[in-house]
Amino acid sequence: MSERTGTVYLVGAGPGDPDLITVKGKRLIGECDALVYDYLVDERMKGWVKEGCELHYVGKRSGFHSLEQGKIEDLLIELAQRGLKVVRLKGGDPFVFGRGGEEAESLRKAGIRYEVIPAVTAALGCAAYCGIPLTHREWSSTVTFISGHEQPEKGLSMVDWGAHARSGATLVLYMAMGRLEEICDKLVEEGRDADTPACVVQWGTTPRQRSVRGTLRDIGWRVEEAGLGPPAVVIIGPVAALGDLLSWFDPSI
Ligand code: SAH
Repeated sequence: MSERTGTVYLVGAGPGDPDLITVKGKRLIGECDALVYDYLVDERMKGWVKEGCELHYVGKRSGFHSLEQGKIEDLLIELAQRGLKVVRLKGGDPFVFGRGGEEAESLRKAGIRYEVIPAVTAALGCAAYCGIPLTHREWSSTVTFISGHEQPEKGLSMVDWGAHARSGATLVLYMAMGRLEEICDKLVEEGRDADTPACVVQWGTTPRQRSVRGTLRDIGWRVEEAGLGPPAVVIIGPVAALGDLLSWFDPSI
């Protein structure tokens, strides 16, 4: 490895509110020579870079890829090979449904040094800002993060919904808005009580945060009625009802 090759920092930006990034993540943004960021990253974070820092937007929205994953990885390698200190800023935590693993793998293969800086993932940010404790001594001692988005040709097969239905764990679904009703029906079919509380949180921790509460039986149409879409997480389990009592965040302030 050439001495002049730069390091890539895979930095988690947190769920939305820029104040939720780690101290280390913010410091690295201020020090880097190139910032590579995507769609779910708050625009204000760009303002933390030093003068002369290169900005590369590689945003991805489901269905609208501005740069393919392989090209993002090539870009990171190229920037590091130019000797730059690179921050790859990703929404939430880089290693939770963020393809951070694939980026680290390519960097390792190319012989580029990297570090991973963890962050508050959407499930934790949304739960906190809705007053929903994901675990609770009375209600839940397990939390499961599940991706609702799979390649359509795989159907629902990658996830064992039956096991999740029976587990009693608090479930947090990411990328599930496209098939929310289908998933809720499946969980009920596999044995979860249709009256299990559920809460959908869109743009959590930001001034645009909106949430809708219901049950597995009715959350699908409630969400549709309210016009909520991605990015959103779905929190399922008895703890989801505690948001009624414990919510504290007023996005309008
Ligand atoms: N690495 C990210 C997840 C990326 S996948 C993390 O750790 O949070 C993108 C999905 O994350 C979205 O479809 C949505 O389900 C969820 N998400 C990200 N930011 C969110 C936010 N502010 N509010 C609600 N959901 C969010």
